[in-house]
Amino acid sequence: MGKKKRKIRICPKCKKPTLRPASYVSGWLTPERFRCMECGYVGHIYLEVSPEEYEQYLKDQADKSEDNK
Ligand SMILES: [Zn+2]
Repeated sequence: MGKKKRKIRICPKCKKPTLRPASYVSGWLTPERFRCMECGYVGHIYLEVSPEEYEQYLKDQADKSEDNK
């Protein structure tokens, strides 16, 4: 125990760790929003995964493209 696990935020649309906080100055109080630098997604939903989970995801993606031969 006591091992701190770092989490990364990934885009719910393209699954890339390219989310940036998108602060809006519009006169409204909005929940924190994020913008994906990869696909242009903007919203307050994000996925949080550990680096291990993300690596696994990348592996799965690679396996899938292997199948398309
Ligand atoms: Zn995205």
